[in-house]
Amino acid sequence: MSRPLTQAAMPPVPLPQGEREVAFRGRCDAGASLADFIWFRTGGPAERLVRPADVADLQAFLAGLDPEVPIMAVGVGSNLIVRDGGVPGVVVRLPKAFATVTAEGETVRAGAAAMGITVASAARDAGLSGLEFLRGIPGTVGGAVRMNAGAYGRDVAVCLVEATVVRRDGSVATLPAAELGFAYRHSALPADAIVVEAVFRGVPGDRAAIAAEMDRIAAEREASQPLRSRTGGSTFANPPGHKAWALIDAAGCRGLRRGGAQVSEKHTNFLINAGDATSADIEGLGEEVRARVLAHSGVDLRWEIVRVGVLLPSSSGEGRKTRGTRGPGVGPVREAEATSAAPSFPTLDPSPEGEGSR
Ligand SMILES: Cc1cc2nc3c(=O)[nH]c(=O)nc-3n(C[C@H](O)[C@H](O)[C@H](O)COP(=O)(O)OP(=O)(O)OC[C@H]3O[C@@H](n4cnc5c(N)ncnc54)[C@H](O)[C@@H]3O)c2cc1C
Repeated sequence: MSRPLTQAAMPPVPLPQGEREVAFRGRCDAGASLADFIWFRTGGPAERLVRPADVADLQAFLAGLDPEVPIMAVGVGSNLIVRDGGVPGVVVRLPKAFATVTAEGETVRAGAAAMGITVASAARDAGLSGLEFLRGIPGTVGGAVRMNAGAYGRDVAVCLVEATVVRRDGSVATLPAAELGFAYRHSALPADAIVVEAVFRGVPGDRAAIAAEMDRIAAEREASQPLRSRTGGSTFANPPGHKAWALIDAAGCRGLRRGGAQVSEKHTNFLINAGDATSADIEGLGEEVRARVLAHSGVDLRWEIVRVGVLLPSSSGEGRKTRGTRGPGVGPVREAEATSAAPSFPTLDPSPEGEGSR
């Protein structure tokens, strides 16, 4: 895992060192595992995983980094497939120093590494309603802003006041929500802009009622989603006028398997790593589901899960056949140990269907 990902095809990422170096105070690890923490527990390493100490540290790091080096942020990976060949360039993971949450009047200011539940809880404690939906979204504030995360008829777009981002060149900007180009599960935030803080607006409400609503959301999620599985949440966006899960179910995909990946029996718009899946299994299964839904109902599902990194030619999923639904051997979804085997390092072959395809 410590061998540089790009040894075969790319020069190592030029880090801000030497004359331009402004002593970096965070952590920077080469070939660091992402599968250790992202929800699916699959996929290759980051060429460099960078954890800045604070905003100024992130700014200085980016300002000194070769502009050609690709960067992306990662939260807790609850909406990500990291391909088996890993992620070239720099992956930025904001540490705890970016997770402070404070209520200020009718707003809640949250660091981008804070979890949605922490924001919802802070709002509840301050007697602010309208942010309860964040209780059910198991990601960070940064991921929620990027994805315009939402549930129960609300989303980030309706309650975000502003977000502070660090741009690729190290400059920092605070952008009003109206400038973020929000649409359903989408923002127009540039792919290399890193959210470091967000301010959400609530509405004064009754603390007990807010707490009850959060409890209701938690119970409903528990009943309807495979929360204890290795998953990436809703795989496909709901097409206008349809529920993705219903289209998938109607196309006969409930329980469908490919390698170690499976369409959840509990919620058909969730794919799960049932034990020994590769990212290629998961992505290949998703494509199989898309094809079956298209053939059955004529609807072309759009991936909601973000896919990043490079495909390994050897793990395209082709050799791992899709197995039928509900047949013998299709067992119940269960927790299992993740595969974290080191990938063989490929010639990099960035797929056109990476992050930019969203
Ligand atoms: C069980 C389960 C239930 C879910 N339910 C919902 C739901 O109800 N509604 C919903 O909308 N989603 C849901 N999701 C999906 C997911 O939780 C959300 O999309 C969440 O907002 C992703 O946050 P994250 O921190 O995990 O982001 P990641 O998955 O790590 O990243 C997602 C995207 O955000 C980008 N990103 C992450 N951090 C930053 C940052 N600081 N700055 C800029 N970009 C960043 C990444 O580059 C990537 O493009 C669910 C997922 C699971 C596993």
